Amino acid sequence: MKEYEIYIHIPFCVKKCAYCDFLSGPAGEEEMKRYVDALIQEIQAGTTPEGEAVSVFIGGGTPSILEVSLLERVMDTLYKTHTISPEAEITIEANPGTLHMDKLKAYRSMGINRLSIGLQSPREKELRMLGRIHSYEDFLESFYNARRAEFDNINIDLMMALPGQTADDWRENLDTIAALKSEHISAYSLIVEPGTPFAAKALALPDEDTEYLMYDDTERILSQWGCHQYEISNYALPGRECVHNTGYWIRRDYLGYGLGAASLCQNTRYTNTSDMRTYLTGDPGRASEHLTLQDAMAEQMFLGLRLTRGVSRTLFFKNFGRTPEQVYGKVIRKYTDLGFLETTDDHIRLTRPGIHVSNVIMSEFL
Ligand code: SF4
Repeated sequence: MKEYEIYIHIPFCVKKCAYCDFLSGPAGEEEMKRYVDALIQEIQAGTTPEGEAVSVFIGGGTPSILEVSLLERVMDTLYKTHTISPEAEITIEANPGTLHMDKLKAYRSMGINRLSIGLQSPREKELRMLGRIHSYEDFLESFYNARRAEFDNINIDLMMALPGQTADDWRENLDTIAALKSEHISAYSLIVEPGTPFAAKALALPDEDTEYLMYDDTERILSQWGCHQYEISNYALPGRECVHNTGYWIRRDYLGYGLGAASLCQNTRYTNTSDMRTYLTGDPGRASEHLTLQDAMAEQMFLGLRLTRGVSRTLFFKNFGRTPEQVYGKVIRKYTDLGFLETTDDHIRLTRPGIHVSNVIMSEFL
């Protein structure tokens, strides 16, 4: 049966973090209600695809800011309009400070079976500097409540290479969080995005060598706790790799609903308007772009190389009727000779040194 994924965007947050350039921001109750009305209208108006959804990801923003009754309406609509696999991974992103026990129990009864908690750091100083709304204690309360509500699949988001952060600080952060034994950890380096409050500041960021060390320490420390690296920035206990994100890296079709959400269906990409006023009129303002064969093959390569197992040559052949070597032989040979790429039985993947120059290698497939 054909498999696809669903993404739902909830663009609301209590307040904007100092580094964030996501499509999100604070809003009043009335706006959230109108947004959910427009979202439901968009879901109902869409064409129901063949096959079944193997994952649903409710992302943001801070989806856990929504009243339970609003989220219930969204989930009811999804269940009525799509075939969702009984085994589907259904994730909601949540921030400490917006979760309480009743909400967590309500999520479980809606079929949500995975929680992705935005922590970023267990240090109060770092949380304040990032402009987060919560303390580490708030996070611990949310985490243990989630366990009590029988969430057995939890991701924790962490951020490294923060201003003033040392390699020792980061190692301690990792040990603190790994000891909680969540099933999944995402660890991204801070990127200072133009237009954010961070971009206007002179920040004492760790130098390149320190960041390199932090990255390698992440893999080393988390693997000691049984969390293996399966993607450039993602680590999981065996069998707990994120189905939704993996689908994105192998280019499974996905349907995105909500402000600014993107979809990929049979090599056509659709992108909704990022303008809230337009979206609230009930018009998702969807633009489409058909990907050329070259674009689709390049995406399969550079997204697949994000996975530590690499790009499946079988999948590439199934999708495009030729092997990666037939299309990108010169680039693959060049980086294999340099020790940055290697070929296993079915996969072409980055080596450990290759991961450190992944941006350069991936750009060669464009
Ligand atoms: S909670 Fe997340 S989406 Fe919201 S402002 Fe902070 S980083 Fe951005």
